[in-house]
Amino acid sequence: MNRFDYARATDAGDAVSLASTPGTRFLAGGTNLVDLLKENVERPGKVIDIRRLPLDAIADIDGGGLRLGALATNADTAWHPEVEARYPLLSSAILAGASPQLRNAATNGGNLNQRTRCYYFYDTAAACNKRQPGAGCAAIGGQTRIHAILGSSESCIATHPSDMCVALAALDAQVRVQGPSGERTIAFADYHRLPGDDPSRDNHLADGELVLSIDLPAEDFSTHYSYLKLRDRLSYAFALVSVAAALRLDADGRIESGRVALGGVAHKPWRLPEAETLMEGREPSQELFLDVAQRLLLGAQGRGGNDFKIELARRAIVRALRQAAAGTPQSQTDKRVA
Ligand code: SF4
Repeated sequence: MNRFDYARATDAGDAVSLASTPGTRFLAGGTNLVDLLKENVERPGKVIDIRRLPLDAIADIDGGGLRLGALATNADTAWHPEVEARYPLLSSAILAGASPQLRNAATNGGNLNQRTRCYYFYDTAAACNKRQPGAGCAAIGGQTRIHAILGSSESCIATHPSDMCVALAALDAQVRVQGPSGERTIAFADYHRLPGDDPSRDNHLADGELVLSIDLPAEDFSTHYSYLKLRDRLSYAFALVSVAAALRLDADGRIESGRVALGGVAHKPWRLPEAETLMEGREPSQELFLDVAQRLLLGAQGRGGNDFKIELARRAIVRALRQAAAGTPQSQTDKRVA
């Protein structure tokens, strides 16, 4: 057992100042961090318990958006009446992830900061640049079924495992954080990072920065959306490919604007604005959505065991966009099954 110091923060400022020592980790729901501690994957010198901070509210913000507290649980967020009514894309993405027990404990901030489920990252006998920079990457040339097809590097081909984050990317959420130099807001597209030559960092949080909230803009895409998740089991499995699709249609049924974010394919939720602008002013059609998929997947590269994901993603993008255009989201089917 690796020894670490433990402290309980009384407010956000206290948490940030307690986290000034390098190698400190914040503990919230613990659904990922505690596993990582048990497996010796994470070996922090200090753990700061933030569970009692008053960051669990879900409330309206100026401009018509909604603020999701970093410590609100995934379950409370998904089933919150305002989230269900105004951001059903987010609600359905959250409910596609993990299990009811895990969603009851896991928090929104923790969901953003959870780490990859790459098998080799959890196996301390395997080479892993994310766990130990410079060690190599056992996944390259190894089992790659769950690995990235977009934005990977020769240092790391891991994927980000979250469903919630795929919807947040499509919704253009903003992440409010507090650090030693005060508060700042990070656009969701800039929150997570690609591995490059330093896969040890999953996101652009500076050392000691704490997530305070996730802010949703007023545009909610509550009419034409779909979250489609494809995985090896019907529940309690990470996405091989997932798609968050959101469309705004005009009175004639033409697409005014569209968003598509992919999960399970890259080190971060994957969006490509130039693929989305293809849809503006166009009628929804199979051909158009195929064009969008081809553009989104430009440069996709398999590593043997995950080659199938390229075609799977292409078909999933088209299907999710068709569901969104028709106003028949995948989640309606899921809820009927449940
Ligand atoms: Fe580690 Fe990334 Fe390679 Fe997995 S893919 S073994 S997380 S470096």
